Amino acid sequence: LPKNIARRRCLGTSTNSEPRKRKVVFSGIQPTGIPHLGNYLGAFQNWLKLQRDSHPDDQLIFSIVGWHALTLPQDPKALLQSRNDMLAVLLAIGLDPKRCIIFHQDENPDHPELAWILSCLTPFGKLRRMTTWKSRLAVSRNANNEAEIDESLLNTGLFTYPVLQAADILAYKATNVPVGEDQQQHLELTRDIAEGFNKAVSRELFPLPEYGATASKRILSLRDPTAKMSKSAADSNSRILLTDDYQTIRRKVRSAVTDSTPGVTFDPENRPGTSNLISILAGCTGEDATAVARRYSDKGHGYLKNDVVEAVEEMLKEPRSELLRLKSDQAYLKSISEQGSREARQISSRTMEEVRRLVGLSI
Ligand code: ATP
Repeated sequence: LPKNIARRRCLGTSTNSEPRKRKVVFSGIQPTGIPHLGNYLGAFQNWLKLQRDSHPDDQLIFSIVGWHALTLPQDPKALLQSRNDMLAVLLAIGLDPKRCIIFHQDENPDHPELAWILSCLTPFGKLRRMTTWKSRLAVSRNANNEAEIDESLLNTGLFTYPVLQAADILAYKATNVPVGEDQQQHLELTRDIAEGFNKAVSRELFPLPEYGATASKRILSLRDPTAKMSKSAADSNSRILLTDDYQTIRRKVRSAVTDSTPGVTFDPENRPGTSNLISILAGCTGEDATAVARRYSDKGHGYLKNDVVEAVEEMLKEPRSELLRLKSDQAYLKSISEQGSREARQISSRTMEEVRRLVGLSI
């Protein structure tokens, strides 16, 4: 590198005299199955954009958050398989381990240690207000058809996992967290927890991380457009997986629930199914949803569905074949996994030394 650029990188400064604020980006995904179109458009696309566009000084960290998966019942064999597949998925979509740290959260004990310390500073009431928790309460009540909530059906991990999520982020002093809309409330909690910790120890140890909104904030279930597309929903036709072939994509999109109003308009509130297909198409092509809708205004849903199929196939065909190739190279996957663990731990262990000192657990 020319001397001036090398020096700038080293100091983390921009071309003008203002010091440049180095970004630390952190995001994660649960190994709860093969990722779907919602994960791709709501998270992965943004991660790839960050990899492409961010300053070389910025740190990009992506984690496979195995401990979070345990908050719901998992078949151990299936979990292990998903955990290993997820690393291959992240590489197949194009994340570059030379540019990003890609690692398994469950290999870094700094996360639960920090989560414990943070949980001791987090008011109970704040966790009770999390919509993810409240929605689980409703599910339990419905399943039992009882007016009272049966708390024996709810595990403590499900209640406290937003604190573990805060620890995932704060262990790396992340400044930016690109996630879908479903995670926004958890990020606000992380900011609160960071602020509370800084106040308690009278030090600005943790930056308050910013929410990195994505263009496709919330892709909906193809079968029930009142719910988000999810890996764990019972109906497998509700989601398009990264591994689905052309025929499967076609079958799922063609059976997607829309409404009977003629013509196509983008109206998420009143026409969620139709609008979801428009959002998917817009997400695939990088266009604005209303501009996409205009093209189909005098056409039927059939035209829209056909084009959604083609656009999704075009976007997913390369990662799909790359995933197959990577899964047959276990030695490479193992080496990347070890590298990621090492790099992540190097950063989080420095944070933990400071945290332990500040709370009075070490000198
Ligand atoms: P699960 O169903 O097991 O809870 P999930 O499919 O909701 O999993 P996560 O692993 O919790 O996915 O989330 C990974 C990332 O994908 C997060 O950034 C989340 O915000 C984003 N994401 C998940 N579902 C959607 C969706 N339907 N639309 C947009 N983004 C999504």
